[in-house]
This record gives sequence, structure tokens and C-alpha cells, in this order.
Amino acid sequence: MERRQFLLNQSDIPTEWYNIAADLGEPPPPPLHPATQQPCKPEDLAPIFPMGVLEQEMSTQRWIKIPEPVLEKLALWRPSPLYRAVGLEKALKTPAKIFYKYEGTSPAGSHKLNTAIAQAYYNKLEGTTRIATETGAGQWGAALSIACNFFGIGCTVYMVKCSYQAKPYRRSMMHTFGGEVYPSPSEKTEFGRQVLMNDPDCPGSLGIAISEAIEDTLAHDDVKYSLGSVLNHVVLHQTIIGLEAKKQLEMAGVYPDVVIGCVGGGSNFGGIVMPFMADKIAGKDVRAVAVEPKACPTLTSGAYKYDFGDTAKMTPLLKMHSLGPDFIPPAIHAGGLRYHGMAPLVSLIVEKGLAEAVAVDQLDIFEAALTFARSEGIVVAPESAHAILQAINEANQATEEGKERVILFNLSGHGFLDLGAYDSYFADKLCSTD
Ligand SMILES: *Cc1c(COP(=O)(O)O)cnc(C)c1O
Repeated sequence: MERRQFLLNQSDIPTEWYNIAADLGEPPPPPLHPATQQPCKPEDLAPIFPMGVLEQEMSTQRWIKIPEPVLEKLALWRPSPLYRAVGLEKALKTPAKIFYKYEGTSPAGSHKLNTAIAQAYYNKLEGTTRIATETGAGQWGAALSIACNFFGIGCTVYMVKCSYQAKPYRRSMMHTFGGEVYPSPSEKTEFGRQVLMNDPDCPGSLGIAISEAIEDTLAHDDVKYSLGSVLNHVVLHQTIIGLEAKKQLEMAGVYPDVVIGCVGGGSNFGGIVMPFMADKIAGKDVRAVAVEPKACPTLTSGAYKYDFGDTAKMTPLLKMHSLGPDFIPPAIHAGGLRYHGMAPLVSLIVEKGLAEAVAVDQLDIFEAALTFARSEGIVVAPESAHAILQAINEANQATEEGKERVILFNLSGHGFLDLGAYDSYFADKLCSTD
């Protein structure tokens, strides 16, 4: 029987995060202050983020130690499993070897808890009593609610209104862990009230919800803000995925030809690929492919420029691929992939030619999700199905060429709370995003 599972022990959890900023030859372009357009200093951002997080945001140190209390919480489910997709390989009749790192085993059901725990910890250390944040489909709000609960901090979540209505169970998750959830645009903030005055039926967007969370933060001394993707420290915290995967592929006796991840803000992709990009910079032959929805094609169609992260233009300017802060994406079911911007570190590795990007259609990703469910037994988040589709395409290409190819993809989360989207697909209610 082919070996399917590559499991590590608790003592194998990486004890340091890997920072790609150390190996890019020059420091990444800094965030710019929205008023002065000058590079932000840590003090500029201190009202929003704790210093522990800001130091990491601007760090070019290669290895950063994971604090013991963070490791202790990560050990609830880490190391996460790496599987060989033997069933999928058979279904595709491919000579390719397909491996996936499964982040759906976390209590939150996705990779997002990796950074939520670290961010809650640094906030606790510096006396924050409550964290305000935004969430789209609810995965980030749920992860942060769990993490804040672990460290005894309050959590206020501004949830994009159309998701607040469409995804009641993620709201229930947040309530379970003591999170407060408001549909955004809300009456709680000046910006929310302004948006509602102009458009009482506004369905909301991540950009609007971020503006509300930042306004809430700035109005209170003991409240800080937290972002679940995009920023350098978030990508850093997610590198634990790629570091574990590397050890696990060693157990399997292989090195990947290609590493694949879906991209919303870029954190799970960055998390799995950055440790492999270190090898690539050192001369190793490995490809990285970021997969995004055609409905929100940030990397493949967005300009690479300084842009705002939120609709009210309160955030610092980040050098990234962007569709513009006013972009309101169509309601595709992969709610976690609907952000207008991209992690600057991910944008940078794409600009440097280290990583590639492709955009795919929503009907194709559901077909890939079903192929995967029926061969591997896991119902995946629609976001993760983007990575699966690309893995299948890579395997089919290997089949055509009659070559072996080692494919690694990140399975960012399970789809148990996304079954409504599967129902829409079964009922032919999803349209092509071509
Ligand atoms: C949020 C989310 C994503 C997208 O976010 P990234 O920062 O690009 O990783 C992907 N998959 C799942 C399951 C998510 O919850």
C-alpha cells in the first residue's frame, strides 16, 4: 500500500517563523503614511497594532522565535497532517505525485488560527483589552474570537452584511467564543452611518468593514486592530505551514516541482510557499503558483502600485497588486478570496518572477472540489478548491507529458460551513465568472 500519511510529533512543531524579507536582496517597499506619503515608522502605527506585531511587520531578520505561550496553543492541532492524495491520483490516472497540507484540522477549520493566536498573544502582552476586526465570510472573525478567548481579550467583529445574513453559523461560532458581531456597514461607527445614509441597502465589503474596525480602534485607547491576511507579520505567522510541509515531504523522500495555494489576501499561499522560495533564491528549481478567482483577479489583472487597504482610505498605503479600494467584487461563493489588494510580500515574489499567478472560474472550482471529495473524502472550503483545481491541472499536464511531477498544495480549510455554496452549485444556481 502507498503511504498516505506524513505525520509529525508535537516536538517537531517549528519553533521559529521564516521571514522571506531577509532573502529578497533588498528590504520590501515600506508602507507609506496616508497623509504624508512618507514611509511609516512603527510609532505611526502604534495606535492600531501592538509593538510586538509592528516589529515583525518591519523586520528583515530571517528567523523569528515563536513565543512559548503561542506554541502551547498551536499544539492543540499542530503539526497539521500532510497527506499524499493517492485517491485523487488514481481518479486522474496520473503519474504525478500529489501531496496536500491540511489546515482544516484547526479548531477554526482553517489556517487563520495560526496568526490569530500569535496576534492575540502580542496584544495581551501589551495590555490590549479588546481587538476590533473585520470579516468577510466569517473565517477570520471565528479564528480571532477563538484566539481572543484563549488570552482573555474582548473581540468585536464587523462582518460584511451580505455574509452576516448568508452565513449564520460562522456568526454562531464567534458568539460561542464570546465575540461580538455587527453587520457592516453598521450604526456603530461614523463611517458605517455615513455609508448607510447614502445607501441603506448596501451589502457591505471588506474595505468598508476594515474602515469601521479601524474607526472603533482609534476611538478607544485600550482597543487594537487586527488583520487576518495581507500584512507581512501575517504571512510570517503562516510560514509554519510551509516549514512543517518541508519536513513532511522529506519523510516522503520527495521535493516538490510545484507548490500551489489559493490567494485572497495571500497569507496561506505565502505561508506554504515562502520556505520553498528560500530554496529557490538559493538556486533550487521549484515553481510556486497562486490561484485566484476570475471574479476578483488581483494578481493577474491588478496594477502593482501603492494603494489603500480600505474604502475610507484610512490605512497606510501598501505596495501591492490592487483592483482599487472601491472595488466591490461580485458575490462569488469563495467569500475569503474577495479582497481588492494582495499581501505585499506575495506581490513582490510575483513581480520578481519567483511565483506565478493564475485566475480560475467558479464553476470549475466546484467541479474540482467534488472530484476531490469523492476521491479523498474531504469536503473543502470553496477557497481551497481553487488550489485543488490547479493541482489537478498540473497533474493532467504531467499525464500528457508522461512525466512524474511532485505537486504540493495547501488545503487551507474544510467546507462544513460552506455547504450552502455546494447546494447552490448542485441546484445550478452558480454562474460562470468568465
Ligand atoms: C481566508 C481564507 C482564505 C484566503 O485568505 P488568504 O489570506 O489568501 O490565505 C483561503 N482559504 C480559507 C479556508 C480561508 O478561510
